[in-house]
Amino acid sequence: MAEKEPKPPSMPQSLRGMRDLWGDALALHEHVRAVASNVLRSHQFAPIEVPAVESTNLYERGTGESTDIVTKELYAFETRGGDKVSLRPEFTPGIARAYTENGLSRLGLPQRLFAIGPLFRHDRPQAGRYRQFWQVDAETIGGTGDPIYDAQSIAALHRILKELKAPATLEINSIGDRVCRPGYRKLLVAYYTEHEKKLCADCVRRLVTNPLRLLDCKEPGCVKLRENAPKMLDKLCAPCAAHFTEVMEYLDELGIPCTLNPYLVRGLDYYNRTVFEFVHEIGSLAGGGRYDYLFETLGAKPTPAVGWAIGVERVVDALGDRYQIPGKKPRPIFVAHAGEKARKSALSLGELLIGAGIPVKDALAKDSLKAQLKTADKEGCPLAIIVGQKEAFDKTAIIRDFRTGLQEAFPIARIAEEVKKRLKDLRD
Ligand code: AMP
Repeated sequence: MAEKEPKPPSMPQSLRGMRDLWGDALALHEHVRAVASNVLRSHQFAPIEVPAVESTNLYERGTGESTDIVTKELYAFETRGGDKVSLRPEFTPGIARAYTENGLSRLGLPQRLFAIGPLFRHDRPQAGRYRQFWQVDAETIGGTGDPIYDAQSIAALHRILKELKAPATLEINSIGDRVCRPGYRKLLVAYYTEHEKKLCADCVRRLVTNPLRLLDCKEPGCVKLRENAPKMLDKLCAPCAAHFTEVMEYLDELGIPCTLNPYLVRGLDYYNRTVFEFVHEIGSLAGGGRYDYLFETLGAKPTPAVGWAIGVERVVDALGDRYQIPGKKPRPIFVAHAGEKARKSALSLGELLIGAGIPVKDALAKDSLKAQLKTADKEGCPLAIIVGQKEAFDKTAIIRDFRTGLQEAFPIARIAEEVKKRLKDLRD
């Protein structure tokens, strides 16, 4: 009996909640990152890059052991050397570590730093939620905890969303500090304990681990209960109340409208005083707040700080398919050869044009000129530069304008200049 052919192995697929990006979707993603980077640089922020893998301890202590991110969503594993490490679920603890480890405070205070890159959370995948997603993250670290830094940080975020034309409402709250929050927490626990039977299962757990988070539960029963819950804003101590008033005054001065949301607490442990989110109809595009205790919690010198993160995918979703990237890059020109002997000349001419800053497409592996020009048409190239045997010998090339069908020969030495001129005329 003939032996059965072994089945070819099946192709591994991408993981749940992770996706590939290419074409227009990637162009939009890159556009969001570029706008954010430009705005942040003009708002005194300098770029920083931190590793995508850090010790698990950093997130347990930094992000907080009572947060969903740490308890449910961390990609934590042991390395071959036995170290407990995690893929970064957020930027802030890594940037705080880098700031301290590299002594960045010596560069002047506050330090304004931003990072852009992918993050990993083993979240339940659903619309707008991925397990690998990108954030633009900006932190203002050190100096004093002056409310003007909160306002300036929010102003940079506001400008990014405005430049991207991603309309979102700024919601803001204060969650107090070590002085006033413990008393408020007690009031909150007392209130919810009285109504424990009406809480969802998660909130019964939160009542012990992180009672403030009861306020942002989306379950209808819990939403109804919070209406009569005590509000942090009514219980702020005098310095926290003054800080919050000043943040609001500065925002008013900057013409940045905001809405008070007494239920906004944010999911992370380290926030104090100001917390905020920019909310769009599809959900939260960005969020952040002040975190004056994180550095101490990590074992560093007490350092006041304020920061935020934008979800790049969320902003891309908010912009939608019809969003036009302003000032799109010029379309590439096409380089083609006519005849085997001209292939090498066309190859080096392509390199010469790229070197002159002109985007180039080609199909040099194809033999027939017709087949190559068909590709040019598919790619939407406005011009083709064709090298035939005669041109290769003469050190010239033909420029063909696809709109008019006209062809004209130029010496190789003048080609780049002529192409640039024509591309400019096309744009104007
Ligand atoms: P956070 O770090 O949780 O405060 O989130 C800041 C922003 O990141 C949110 O406003 C979202 O826009 C975005 N974001 C958070 N989690 C995800 C996720 N799983 N997938 C995509 N975007 C996310």
